[in-house]
Amino acid sequence: MAHILVLGAGLAGLTTAMLLADDGHRVTVLERDPAQPPPVAHAAVAWDDWRRHGVSQFRLPHFMLPRWWSLIRTHLPDVAGPLLSAGALPVNLLGALPEARRGALRADDSRFDTVTARRPVLEAVLAGAAEAVGVTLRRGVAVTGLAIDRQPCAPHVTGVRTTGGGTAPADLVVDCGGRRSALGAWLSAAGAHPPIEQREDSGFRYYARHFRSRSGLLPAVLTSLLHHYDSLSVLTLPGDNDTWSVVLTTSGRDRALRPLRDPDRWYAALARYPLAAHWADGEPISGVDVMAGIEDRYRRLVVDGRPVATGVVPVGDACACTNPSLGRGASMALIQAVLLRDLLRETDPRDHHTFARRFDEATTQTIEPLYRATLWYDRHRLAELDADAAGRPYRPADPRWRAGAALFAASLADPELTRAHTALASFIATPDEVFAVPGVLDRALALGGDADRYPLPGPSRAELLGTLE
Ligand SMILES: Cc1cc2nc3c(=O)[nH]c(=O)nc-3n(C[C@H](O)[C@H](O)[C@H](O)COP(=O)(O)OP(=O)(O)OC[C@H]3O[C@@H](n4cnc5c(N)ncnc54)[C@H](O)[C@@H]3O)c2cc1C
Repeated sequence: MAHILVLGAGLAGLTTAMLLADDGHRVTVLERDPAQPPPVAHAAVAWDDWRRHGVSQFRLPHFMLPRWWSLIRTHLPDVAGPLLSAGALPVNLLGALPEARRGALRADDSRFDTVTARRPVLEAVLAGAAEAVGVTLRRGVAVTGLAIDRQPCAPHVTGVRTTGGGTAPADLVVDCGGRRSALGAWLSAAGAHPPIEQREDSGFRYYARHFRSRSGLLPAVLTSLLHHYDSLSVLTLPGDNDTWSVVLTTSGRDRALRPLRDPDRWYAALARYPLAAHWADGEPISGVDVMAGIEDRYRRLVVDGRPVATGVVPVGDACACTNPSLGRGASMALIQAVLLRDLLRETDPRDHHTFARRFDEATTQTIEPLYRATLWYDRHRLAELDADAAGRPYRPADPRWRAGAALFAASLADPELTRAHTALASFIATPDEVFAVPGVLDRALALGGDADRYPLPGPSRAELLGTLE
């Protein structure tokens, strides 16, 4: 069994650490932020008092997709109980929809089950669960660089350097330092060949607000959680302990919509969307939080078939981070953490080069397609939002984008297609898998091919701008 250092106690760091500790590895997590999580029984305290400066999205809306929940139930089943005890919300993405849209529920609709919570509550539970399985969590310890053994082919990482000049040795360092991970700079400082890093601004701007129910009831889910309209998208996300959040997403270039940061205008805009307006009917427990300049980034430590360094692997946002409106970050991180756990079962990390190459192969095979598919969706949606702002129709030649839009429109009238669309939104099927089911593409195009691009009721751009004036 190996001694493994995990950098960062975020969603990827904690779940990776648990999976590896469950397999008998000695796992230590080093987290820069000093503040201890509050006891998990106090979800409200986690929200009110726990500050995590190392995670800029810490207080922004998070929703855990059915894919994440299915991985948790399969690989980390002991987390489920504490999550539910802390008030996390069980929800079925299909069952929550009006019956007229989905028809009667069937046994296999349980694949749309998930359990979700606000990020601080979720993380407090995961931190408690990690310690319960023997993970050592050291908070207030910032990693400042890598400890290196210089080898002829590539530097080998033997541990990390920490604040105060200390060194922590390890058989394997797992970088879960998130979207701002400094791994690239640390490797350069160690004299390594630069890793492959592709990055660009995702281009979206988020205006988000959290609410608590005044009545103990959550707002009715009238359509899918993510719904698109002329010039913006609305996300309505149920949360733990009678809370929820609403996010309005625009193109970052759309300056005319920037007044949405003002709470009165944010409310006025939301009120224009009949399927979402009632989500403002609660006690606000945050201001309108604005987030922009979010990068998509993909990092590989194997270049031209050769590891730029051994003894270190990136997992979670440190490897692949995407724009969050599809809510896939935690699921992708957990998928990759399972890959790492499985690789460690068959390959000794002390076999440095083989381990580095196999991890890269597994990541390239599984994570990269998910990353590219998410970017494909984002690029289309961003171009569509920009076209809306310019007053042009968006008609790309890409048949897959048109099929996706048709599927959504058709799903409003066909329970089978509602399931197909919900499978995509749940991250449990890819578009290729959904459209490979006989009849799905034909029916989607027949029912939704000629539909308005924005079939849900909502204001035109001109009406939205009028509301914001
Ligand atoms: C606005 C927004 C909304 C999102 N919504 C969703 C959602 O609904 N669903 C979803 O699945 N995903 C969502 N995501 C993505 C999700 O937040 C990330 O995918 C997830 O946090 C990745 O976890 P991570 O552990 O890789 O990184 P993080 O959670 O960012 O954790 C990184 C940790 O590393 C620590 N660290 C960094 N550097 C060092 C260092 N040098 N030394 C020690 N510690 C260090 C940081 O302090 C931090 O604790 C959202 C992201 C954003 C930006």
